[in-house]
Amino acid sequence: MVDEILRLKRERGAVILAHNYQLPEVQDVADFVGDSLELSIKAAEVGAKLIVFCGVDFMAEQAAVINDSATVLHPDPDARCPMAAMISVDDIRRARKLFPRAPVVIYVNSPAVVKAEADYVVTSANAVDVVKALESDVVIFGPDRHLAEYVAEKTGKIVVPVPPNGHCPVHIRFRADEVRILKSLYRDAVFIAHPECPAEIRSLAGFVGSTSQMIRFVKGCDSCRQVIVGTEIGIIHRLAKENPDKVFIPASTSAICTDMKRITLEKVYRSLRDGVYRVEVPREIAERVKRAIENTFRVLGREPPWLRR
Ligand code: SF4
Repeated sequence: MVDEILRLKRERGAVILAHNYQLPEVQDVADFVGDSLELSIKAAEVGAKLIVFCGVDFMAEQAAVINDSATVLHPDPDARCPMAAMISVDDIRRARKLFPRAPVVIYVNSPAVVKAEADYVVTSANAVDVVKALESDVVIFGPDRHLAEYVAEKTGKIVVPVPPNGHCPVHIRFRADEVRILKSLYRDAVFIAHPECPAEIRSLAGFVGSTSQMIRFVKGCDSCRQVIVGTEIGIIHRLAKENPDKVFIPASTSAICTDMKRITLEKVYRSLRDGVYRVEVPREIAERVKRAIENTFRVLGREPPWLRR
């Protein structure tokens, strides 16, 4: 199967992108493994014409927005992020009426139609920096309320979560008592947590960051011989591969995103063989999402890759 995928990939000139939470064997056939926005930008930088995105729906959509001249395939359209499905366009419009002067900051984990309503589209890696840089002391933020709380903690601003209880069903599975037990069993271990985790879990962590920030942190930490991992367990494959001298302990063995795991080697193969399932975002929506991403890059003092071409 792997040989066939690699053969088809060469023949079709495709680039396979895999999120850090994908199954290990899917990560291993990918050209790039990373977080959602980072992967879409990578595809734009290498000028990919055919992209197979191994991740959930909003990620493949995001790749289609950024790589508008490429064909983007999603191996299983039923791989859908439940958190992204918790927010709607109406939620944003209602919040704007209540807080007319507050900018709308939308997490990349949301549908394109929702991002099209945003002033800024952020990742868990840059949400704090973007909100900090905005003039307004009040921002509307969706859909993850835990990330919204984290941003409020770090910036001291009023962050209004929209919807009020948007969350990642995987990152709320961690339990503080279990983390405390692991920390007492592995006394020298550092506990790393994703900002989508609830505040109680984040407060136990020695490091809080996005998946790409976790990967950089672990690589650069010589004293971190044992690491308790507070995010979806798929990331452990990459962490262990890149840090063979370190030991990784999942903070919860039930932190598994079943939607991410819907993408199998067989589906990647079928996707390449039959050119399915093509992801298309209406041009008008894609242009509005891109504008919101450009605003984010501008605030961060950077230029988006499509303007660099
Ligand atoms: S881990 Fe959470 S946020 Fe990520 S795709 Fe799964 S449900 Fe969505």
